[in-house]
Amino acid sequence: MNNEEFRKHGHELVDWMADYFKEVESYPVLPNVAPGDIIKQIPGVAPEKAEAFETIFSDFKEKILPGMTHWESPNFMAYFPANKSKASVLAEMLMSTMGAQCMLWLTSPAAAELEEQMMNWLRDMLGLPGHFTGCIQDTASTATLCAMLTARERATNYGVNQRGFTGDEKFTVYCSEQIHSSIDKGAKIAGIGLEQVRKIPTDEQYALKADMLRQQIEEDITNGFKPLCVISAIGTTGTTAVDPIAAISDICEEHDIWHHVDAAYAGTVLVLPEMRWMSEGVERADSFVFNPHKWMFTNFDCTAYFVKDPTALVNTFAISLDILKTDVDNEVKNYRDWGIPLGRRFRALKLWFVIREMGVSGIQAKIRSHIAYGQWLKTEIEAHRDFELLAPVILNTLNFRFLADESEETLNELNKQIMDNVNKSGKLFFVQNVLKGQFALRLAFGGTELEKRHVENAWKLIQEETVRVYEQFKQKS
Ligand SMILES: *Cc1c(COP(=O)(O)O)cnc(C)c1O
Repeated sequence: MNNEEFRKHGHELVDWMADYFKEVESYPVLPNVAPGDIIKQIPGVAPEKAEAFETIFSDFKEKILPGMTHWESPNFMAYFPANKSKASVLAEMLMSTMGAQCMLWLTSPAAAELEEQMMNWLRDMLGLPGHFTGCIQDTASTATLCAMLTARERATNYGVNQRGFTGDEKFTVYCSEQIHSSIDKGAKIAGIGLEQVRKIPTDEQYALKADMLRQQIEEDITNGFKPLCVISAIGTTGTTAVDPIAAISDICEEHDIWHHVDAAYAGTVLVLPEMRWMSEGVERADSFVFNPHKWMFTNFDCTAYFVKDPTALVNTFAISLDILKTDVDNEVKNYRDWGIPLGRRFRALKLWFVIREMGVSGIQAKIRSHIAYGQWLKTEIEAHRDFELLAPVILNTLNFRFLADESEETLNELNKQIMDNVNKSGKLFFVQNVLKGQFALRLAFGGTELEKRHVENAWKLIQEETVRVYEQFKQKS
């Protein structure tokens, strides 16, 4: 492809992208495809001869697009959103055009320095303590693994990195039973072992019980274990529950344990001063992670990882290699030493574009509206005699179910049927949660183009499907 062809196709693609943004709401959120439908349309061997770009792009539209799940649709209410803004997409185009690789300051000075300043912006936007510093990671899973590895190294005077495990280590980590699966994965990779992940019970708000945490830690110490790390959550995945951060910090300080705060989704809400009760005590945590790629309008991937003590982090990850040495190493931040990968994308550019293009007040306004829609739906469900909430609605994530005079088993089946039917319609996509053995319809919404009418429509679809499913059930039985 020469430059003029690139210019032509580039414009065509941008036109397509603008149309996509306009039309995505009318696409089926979940594609109507079965396993194997897509791969059988893709040749099993790579083409020997060059193909025309027109052919490639038209195959994209015909073969790939119909198999896509549309995360950008305002009717996507599954998992957590991974929203984005147009500014972040444009920044992504510039990033890939320059092919920036930000492993060292020298390999892209502007990328390294912009990253440092964007982390400062984010820290202050979220009201995090001024002594926090950090870098951008690909995902929260990686950041949480970094926290566990740093905790392990700090506790062993950087010994496991050096000599490997001796076999006498009896490390433990702690989190609530509601915590994200990335903690289990991190414990597997960090050599702690799943059996040493202590899942602490939660209260009726699904928040970790601090007294149970203390009891478990003390019992483990008595039994010769070495508690390494507590992972608390601001906004658990299931219900956006908030663990008692300050009380957990107390316990961690007492026993010299690393306190990592996982705010992957809900961290963004701290841009609202009125929501900062959620992060009370965070200034005493050792590390904190949140994903601008979930709720802060920055397209995937972009994770902000903050630490209290960058020395411990760098001591854990630093490598020394002749080819990577530069004359300014003592004056700059070489982010290759702040995490796992050597090569790093220029993600700070996206943040810079997004935050400036929306303004902090623009971001705050959108987040406030998303929470308001969540609270509106909460009131609707509370007022409806055929539905009940299964967890407190703290933000814009709702767990509820259809309720009738039926056995728990039947209710679980009916609610699953309602979900499956709605999802099959393509008009809405959400997933289930299971709380105390009860099947919950779980809605979480925070799309960039989300309006109240989308939430109203989702609620209407669920109610209509419920009537249909229950009538059919009664006819049969
Ligand atoms: C989404 C989520 C994660 C994982 O985020 P990735 O960036 O996909 O690794 C971790 N913890 C919580 C609470 C989450 O909601």
